[in-house]
Amino acid sequence: AKRSGKDTIVSWSAGMSLAELEDEELRSALRTAVEDRRVRLAFQPIVELTTGRLSGLEALARWRHEGRDVPPDVFIPLAERAGLMGALTADLLEEACTRLAGWSAGRDDLLTVHVNVAPSQLVAPGFVTTVADLVRRHGLRPGALVLEITESGIFADLDAARAAVVELRRLGVGVSLDDFGVGYSSLAQLNAMPLDSVKIDRSFLAAVDSDPRQARFLHAVLRLAEEIGLPVVAEGVERPAQLHLLRALGCLHAQGYLLGRPVEVDAVPPLLDGIAIP
Ligand code: C2E
Ligand code: CA
Ligand code: CA
Ligand code: CA
Repeated sequence: AKRSGKDTIVSWSAGMSLAELEDEELRSALRTAVEDRRVRLAFQPIVELTTGRLSGLEALARWRHEGRDVPPDVFIPLAERAGLMGALTADLLEEACTRLAGWSAGRDDLLTVHVNVAPSQLVAPGFVTTVADLVRRHGLRPGALVLEITESGIFADLDAARAAVVELRRLGVGVSLDDFGVGYSSLAQLNAMPLDSVKIDRSFLAAVDSDPRQARFLHAVLRLAEEIGLPVVAEGVERPAQLHLLRALGCLHAQGYLLGRPVEVDAVPPLLDGIAIP
């Protein structure tokens, strides 16, 4: 047996591969980290392209383990498999709302915080009640909290997801469809869901400045979102040429390393006054 984390014994059993053993160790370390509230948030600016105004901040989970950052693409699925998503989501939502309340004080315009919510949580019993309680306790303005749900997940249980989204909207909570374009949604399905916005996956932006076909494709996706009345946030803006194209195509909001990387809490206040657009 091998010691891992604070007080958890992970034991190797016959037939377990090395990968499984490592997964098991990481999982028990993650469990301890969630219990101790050591998974924290970084925040990335979402910028209004015509003005440089900071319109929102996306909250992204961060976990440092044994001196290294474990990517959320690794530990979020792990938390899911370990049954930790409920506790983790509640904790991160609480932190995001607490921070937002602080940053919004004294501002007249609406600052939003976007929190990623796994589809399993959106449809979990009690989720909407938890969010209602958050909104009330933090006195959030309508629209100040936006939940980002991945497109590929939202349609796994379409009826339950739609019901949850309808209730969230009633509470004044926004719902944004994440990774728009890489999932499987039909237009009819999108149309049936009362969404507030869509986030265009960064894969659609990757080659727009070198490949005219990609640029036309982006144009089509933007026009489609506009047709159905959904505001768009473009993700993964890394180069000025991508930004210029987005502005030329009338996209209003964007996010990406060019405009600002995810930063820790203490580095957020200077962003609140807006961002100089390159
Ligand atoms: P996502 O929601 O699509 O988040 C955007 C990811 O792109 C983030 O990666 C962000 O750091 C990264 N990014 C932002 N701008 C750029 C850019 O210009 N170029 C490139 N190459 N990347 C950029 P991150 O933080 O590693 O998160 C990865 C994914 O993990 C997220 O993708 C989201 O699906 C998931 N995730 C993160 N935090 C949470 C959370 O609190 N809850 C849940 N359920 N999922 C989360
Ligand atoms: Ca997201
Ligand atoms: Ca995304
Ligand atoms: Ca993504």
